[in-house]
Amino acid sequence: VFITLEGGEGAGKSTQAARLAATLRARTGRPVTVTREPGGSPWAEEIRTALLAGVAKPYGPFAEALLFSAARLDHLDRLIRPALARGESVVCDRFIDSTHAYQGAAEGLDPAVLTALERVVVGRTRPDLTLILDLPPETGLARAAARGEAVGQGPDRFEGEALGFHTRLRAAFLEIAKAEPGRCAVIDATSGPDAVEAAIRGELDRRLPG
Ligand code: C5P
Repeated sequence: VFITLEGGEGAGKSTQAARLAATLRARTGRPVTVTREPGGSPWAEEIRTALLAGVAKPYGPFAEALLFSAARLDHLDRLIRPALARGESVVCDRFIDSTHAYQGAAEGLDPAVLTALERVVVGRTRPDLTLILDLPPETGLARAAARGEAVGQGPDRFEGEALGFHTRLRAAFLEIAKAEPGRCAVIDATSGPDAVEAAIRGELDRRLPG
């Protein structure tokens, strides 16, 4: 199966990705690949480094979306599709919904453009299940700050609008979950890692039994 984790900063996606992989390994007895976006394959990781460099970007949001798409195509072709073809599971920390939330809802890129890119790049390799780790942006930003992380704050970062940006992000993820309830499950990520893991296991048992 192909499972993605989505959500804003400090939601605990990488912790839960590792725990979910262990659960899936135990359940299936098969290898599970844990990966992330942007990145996940050597060349896509190089694009990640460029995308996340803490300098003012010399390109606009459309070029940025093309870079994310190029990274995603490489990641899909070199890692995700081969693993799924071998009958293994893949757990990916961020995927298509981050593009719609960050580049679309939060940064204002035309959703039709993003959907067209997705059709070309992702095609039918869509997640079987997407876990949206939801928490108030204040909580997530405080967690990320406590880890000493510089978080992505979008184009308005210089105006101290970080909270507005992250509030738009959260709303976007929740809207995606509402639009695609068959694929997406919203998980309350305000509690500790064990409680979040239990909630994720519950969704797994309900949605992907066996
Ligand atoms: O998941 P992680 O925190 O490692 O993601 C790194 C950063 O990449 C995020 O903080 C976010 O600002 C940025 N990002 C983005 N658009 C995406 C995916 C990630 O701006 N589609």
